[in-house]
Amino acid sequence: MNQPAQALHETHRAESVADSAMLYMEDICHDFGTLRAVDHVTLDVQRGEVVCLLGPSGCGKSTLLRVAASLEELQHGRVMIGGEDMRSPSGRNVPPERRNVGLMFQDSALFPHLSVVENVMFGLDRLPTRQRRARAMEFLDKLGMSEHASRHPHMLSGGQQQRVALARALAPGPGLMLLDEPFSALDARLRDRIRDDTLHLLKSAGAGTLLVTHDPEEAMFMADRIALMKDGRILQMDRPENLYCHPVDPFVATFFGDVNRMEGVVRNGRIDTPLGQMDAQGLAEGERALVLVRPEAVRVVMVSEPSAAHGDTHVIMSRLLGRSSLVHICVHDQQNREFHLHSTMPGVFLPQENQRVELHVNPAQVFVFPAE
Ligand code: ATP
Repeated sequence: MNQPAQALHETHRAESVADSAMLYMEDICHDFGTLRAVDHVTLDVQRGEVVCLLGPSGCGKSTLLRVAASLEELQHGRVMIGGEDMRSPSGRNVPPERRNVGLMFQDSALFPHLSVVENVMFGLDRLPTRQRRARAMEFLDKLGMSEHASRHPHMLSGGQQQRVALARALAPGPGLMLLDEPFSALDARLRDRIRDDTLHLLKSAGAGTLLVTHDPEEAMFMADRIALMKDGRILQMDRPENLYCHPVDPFVATFFGDVNRMEGVVRNGRIDTPLGQMDAQGLAEGERALVLVRPEAVRVVMVSEPSAAHGDTHVIMSRLLGRSSLVHICVHDQQNREFHLHSTMPGVFLPQENQRVELHVNPAQVFVFPAE
C-alpha cells in the first residue's frame, strides 16, 4: 500500500474501532500544573471485554479512568462511549451521570442511611418501584448478598460492602464499567473470591470494563487485554499471554515478576551468559545486550559430579512457595565470575545446599534487549 492509501486505511480502521467500542479514548493528555500525568494515550474497550490498566503507582492509571468517567475534565483528545462523543458540540463534557457508565472504586462509599437493597435500587429510578426492588434483589442474589438486603452498610464487612457496591454499579445495566482498584482494600483470600465472582458477573452482563490495578496477577486473572502503563504512556497493550511471552521492552518483561538479568556482547549472532550461549534475537554484532530469563524457564537437574559444561553450578538454598519451589543457584561465567540466579520448579522440589546441578533453559522465555 502506498503512503496516502496506508494513512486512509489506518484512519478508517481507527474510526471503525471507535464506533464499535464501548469506550474509545484517543490521544488523551492530562496535566496537573506542570506534571504530565497522561501522555498521548489511545485505547479501546470492546463490548463484553475486560481491559486492565496496569502499572506502578503514579503512572497515570487512575487519571485516565477518571477522564473516561468525566471526573476529570477532558483536556486533550477524544472520549467516545458507546459510539457517542462525550464532548457536546458546545464543547462541554457530558457529565458522569449521563454517561451510561457504572463506577466502582477501592472504597465505594454506600449511602449509610439506606439499606443494602435501597442502595442498589438507587440507580434504577427509571423503573417502577416493584421492578426496581426485583432487579436489585436479582443482582444481590448473583453476588450472594440477598440475605443481607435489609441490613445497613455499617453492619457489613468490607468485602460485603464491595459486593453491594458492585451490584449497585451493575444493576442499571451500564454499557461500560469503570473500576479503580476495587479489590485492593480486601485481604488476600476474600479478594480471590470476589475477583472470581466479579469476573463472571461482568462477563455475563456483557458490558465493556476498564479496570485499574497495580497488581500484575490481578490483571492476568481479570483481563482479556492489558494496557501496561509507565510515566503516563501505554508501553504495550495486548492479550496477557503476549505481554508475558513477547514483552516489547525490559520494563514489561520485569513487571510480571522476578527475572534473571544478565549482560553480554553479541558475537557471531550469540551472547555468552552464565546460563550458556543465547541467540542474539536480531541484535547487531558487537552490541551490548541485556538478557532476561524468567525463573520458570530455568530447569534444575540434580547431578552427582560436576560436568565440563556446568562446572561448579550448585544450589545456595531452596524454598517451597506453595505451588512451586524457588531454587537459588550459584553459576559461573566464562571468566569464572560468580552469579546468583533463580529457578522456579513446579511442586515440591527442594535440593540441599551445595547440591551440584545442571541448568536447562527454555529459549522461548529468554528475552534479549539492547543494554540500557
Ligand atoms: P496509584 O496507583 O498510586 O493511584 P496511578 O497510576 O493511578 O497511581 P494517578 O493517580 O493517575 O496514578 O496519578 C498520576 C500522577 O498525577 C501522579 O504523579 C499523581 O501524584 C498526580 N496526580 C494525580 N491526581 C492529582 C491531582 N488531583 N493534583 C495533582 N497531581 C495529581
